Amino acid sequence: MTPSYTDTRLLIAGQWCDAASGKTIDVVNPASGQVIGRVAHAGIPDLDRALAAAQRGFEDWRKVPANERATTMRKAAGLVRERASDIARLLTQEQGKPVGEARIEVMAAADIIEWFADEGRRVYGRIVPSRNLAAQQLVMKEPVGPVAAFTPWNFPVNQVVRKLSAALASGCSFLVKAPEETPASPAALLQAFVDAGVPAGTVGLVFGTPSEISTYLIAHPIIRKVTFTGSTPVGKQLAAMAGAHMKRATMELGGHAPVIVAADADVELAVRASAGAKFRNAGQVCISPTRFLVHNSIRDEFARAMVQHAQGLKLGDGLADGTTLGPLANPRRLTAMAQLLADAQAKGAKLATGGDRVGSSGNFFAPTVLTDVPLNAEVFNHEPFGPVAAIRGFDTLEEAIAEANRLPYGLASYAFTQSIKSAHLLAQQLEVGMLWINQPAAPSPEMPFGGVKDSGYGSEGGPEAMEAYLVTKTVSIMAV
Ligand code: NAD
Repeated sequence: MTPSYTDTRLLIAGQWCDAASGKTIDVVNPASGQVIGRVAHAGIPDLDRALAAAQRGFEDWRKVPANERATTMRKAAGLVRERASDIARLLTQEQGKPVGEARIEVMAAADIIEWFADEGRRVYGRIVPSRNLAAQQLVMKEPVGPVAAFTPWNFPVNQVVRKLSAALASGCSFLVKAPEETPASPAALLQAFVDAGVPAGTVGLVFGTPSEISTYLIAHPIIRKVTFTGSTPVGKQLAAMAGAHMKRATMELGGHAPVIVAADADVELAVRASAGAKFRNAGQVCISPTRFLVHNSIRDEFARAMVQHAQGLKLGDGLADGTTLGPLANPRRLTAMAQLLADAQAKGAKLATGGDRVGSSGNFFAPTVLTDVPLNAEVFNHEPFGPVAAIRGFDTLEEAIAEANRLPYGLASYAFTQSIKSAHLLAQQLEVGMLWINQPAAPSPEMPFGGVKDSGYGSEGGPEAMEAYLVTKTVSIMAV
C-alpha cells in the first residue's frame, strides 16, 4: 500500500507553521506526474521570524556543553534510524529513487549525525608557549554563528544532514532552505532534532522562491556562514553574494567525473563498480561517473558490458517491487537528456542502448550508453545529471589524465588499474577533490568531501567539515 504523503510546513522557533501569506507550492510525484501534496512558501515576514529564532537558538545552543550536544544529536540519530522506512517512502514519492536507495540515504544520515556528534567533543583549541612568561596564550575555537544552508533535490536528506550535523556539532544554529520539489523528507529529518530536544530556533526550515530567500538570508546580519550544494552557476552567484557581505562560505557544486579505465584494469571490476554507480539515483548525483575514458584495447569489451548492465535495469516507480531505476526527479532533466543525446549523435557519437523517454506519464528515461563520444559533444562538457554513460577511448594514460583535467570541474574521479605506478601517477596528477581507485565512490562522514576549481570549495566530511563552522580567537592573559 502506498503510504500517504504529508504536506510540509515551515519550521520556525521549534513550531511547524504555514507561511504568513498562506501561499503554498505543489509537490509532484515524478513517477506519476501527479500532485501529491503542498509545501509552505515563505515570504520576508516568515524569514524575519526564522532569522530571529536562529539568533536565539544560537545563543542557547552554543551554551550547551559539547558532550550534551552530542547526546542530543545521538538521540536525533536514533530517531532517524527508527523512522527510516517511513522517511524513505516519503523521499521516494517526492524524488523518485528506488525505496531501497532512499532507505540507504536515510540510514547513512543517522551515521553522519553520530559521527559529527562525537567530533563536536573534540573541538580543541591550544595553549601556545608565550614569549612573556607572565602571559598565557590561548587559541580558542568558537562556533561561527547562525548558518544559512541551501540544499538540492537529488539527495533531499543527505544534502541537509552533512551541513546540519557539522553546524550543530560546532555549536551553530542552522536555518535551511531545503528543496521545494522534495520537502517532506528533509522536514522529517528536522523533526527528529526537534523531538530529540534541541532548543527552539536551533534548527529551522523554510521553502519558497530560492533566489529571494538566498538574497535575503545571505545579506542579513544575523547569518554568519553560508553553505550551498547545487549547480556551479548558482554557486558562483551565492559565493559572490557571500563575499560582498563578508560571510564565510562552503560551496559544493557540480562535477563531471572522469572514469579512467587503464589497459591493465580488471575490466569486470571496472564495469561492476562504475555501472552501479552510474545509474544510482538515475545519474542525478554530483559524484556520478560521467566521462568514461577507456583504453582502446578494452573499450569494446567495456562498452558491451555497460550495455548489458543498462539493459538489465528495471525502470519503474521507486515504490514498486524490483525497481532498480526510478524516474528523473523533474521534467527539466528529461528535456536536458533529450538535448544532450541529440547533440551527441549529431556530432558523431553512437547510441548503444536507450536514448529515449519511456512512457508518457512520469519522468522515465531509458538507461543510455553512448560510445565514440567526441570531445566537443555537450555531454562530455556539461554534467549530464541523468542516466547516460558516455564512453570514449584513449591510447596513453597521459592522454586520459589530460582529458580528465581539461574541464573546469574538479569534484569526483575514478580509475581502474592494477599498476601501483599508474595509481600514484593518477593520485598526483588528477585535479579533483576526490579519487576512488578500483572501487565505486565510498564517501563516509570521516573523509573530506568536496571539490576544487569550478566544483567549489570547502569540505563536508572529516575534521575539515567542522573547521567550516568554527572561528579562531587568539587570547593572551597577562597575570598582573
Ligand atoms: P538549478 O541550478 O536551478 O538549481 C540547483 C539547486 O540550486 C536547486 O536545489 C535550486 O533550488 C537551488 N537554487 C537555484 N537558484 C538558487 C538561488 N538563487 N539561491 C538558492 N538556491 C538556488 O538547477 P536544477 O534544474 O534544479 O538542477 C540542474 C543542475 O544543477 C544539475 O544539472 C546539476 O548540475 C546541478 N545540481 C547539482 C547538485 C549537486 O549535488 N551538486 C544537486 C542538484 C542539482
